[in-house]
Amino acid sequence: MKKSETLLIKKKYAENIDEYIQKGGFLSLKKVLGDGIPPEKVIEEVKKSGLRGRGGAGFPTGLKWSFIPRDAEKKFLICNADEGEPGTFKDREILLYAPYLLIEGIIISSYAIQAEVSYIYLRKEYKWIYDRIYKAIRETEEIGFLGKNILGSSFNHRIKIFLGAGAYICGEETALLESMEGKKGFPRLKPPYPADKGLFGNPTVINNVETLANIPIIMEMGGENYAKIGVPKSTGTRLISLSGIVRKKGVFEIEQGKITIREIIEDLGEGVKENYHLLGVIPGGISAPPLLPDEIDITYDFESIIEKGSMSGSGAIIVFGFKEDKKNELLKFLKSAVNFFKEESCGKCTPCREGTWAINDILEKIEKRETQIEEGVEIIDGLYKKMKGLCACPLGESCAIITESFLKKYSDVLNLK
Ligand code: SF4
Repeated sequence: MKKSETLLIKKKYAENIDEYIQKGGFLSLKKVLGDGIPPEKVIEEVKKSGLRGRGGAGFPTGLKWSFIPRDAEKKFLICNADEGEPGTFKDREILLYAPYLLIEGIIISSYAIQAEVSYIYLRKEYKWIYDRIYKAIRETEEIGFLGKNILGSSFNHRIKIFLGAGAYICGEETALLESMEGKKGFPRLKPPYPADKGLFGNPTVINNVETLANIPIIMEMGGENYAKIGVPKSTGTRLISLSGIVRKKGVFEIEQGKITIREIIEDLGEGVKENYHLLGVIPGGISAPPLLPDEIDITYDFESIIEKGSMSGSGAIIVFGFKEDKKNELLKFLKSAVNFFKEESCGKCTPCREGTWAINDILEKIEKRETQIEEGVEIIDGLYKKMKGLCACPLGESCAIITESFLKKYSDVLNLK
């Protein structure tokens, strides 16, 4: 039987604010602010839901919010819309088709941490979506759900949009903060964490677009009911960006832990394109190590993918493979991934700045047959040990891990002429 999508977020797609309201939009906000649910109760409900961040790290959202000191005078919430992980385009879909759901999520989340101002950090490449978001914010203001004394409460809130400058590293939350403060987008050393010292030194929560879009749904159905969707450590749905050699690419919403990666490819993606040979799957954006075809009969959820030595990261499934006589294109594919890391390394930490170039050189040498794959693996392993725990962010380590994993898993294919 073909598996179909499970819809929570997609059900709230709306062309305009009237359509959103017809679909039950803003009822959660009315429930929270109109009924005067205390902020702590909102945090409690999100904790009960088991919601984990959808940007990559999968950190529990309610717990993240609870780190914000209640007595701080000024706090901020930032919606991270710097969706830069190659293969990921699901936040773009929310920004385009569910901006009202996102705005409702931002208001409720800001209320939970008592932030009067929030920002949507929009990646430069999504500048073309700016007007859509801006209009949605304006419409929400006009009906009184943004501004002063929202729904007769004492809560005031404004949402501003901050346009990024086009650096992958600014998706990392502390680099994002630096760039918002007008500085070069270098990740900060942690601690202190943003919950203590975030934007301009104030406690700040940074959540991904999809994470925030889940908040009105959680408040609508209740945390416990939300937690019944999916599996215990991976609750709710996920928006999957499916790309590569499948017949049908796109964004699909799946119930976590209830559909395997193979079923996602076969049923939602309508299978691998004709004449293509499936070589593997990257299950969570380019920073996630690949899975072989015999490793994809696992359910799509945080834990199952970690058990297989990879990660669900940003929810981007890249299905790769080539026509039978073009298997040697795998090296080109790997080189383009490494080149991405090399170009996007911000240069702050020497092991990453130099290491990503060194990994790139090794691949060049493998291509020219000047270095054997086994030797390349050994060198990269040495580089990885020099990066591990010694860099301000995981970019360099990811570059080493995925390259090593590709070289080990596909040594037979890469040795083809
Ligand atoms: S690990 Fe790389 S990308 Fe991350 S801060 Fe250091 S140099 Fe920049």
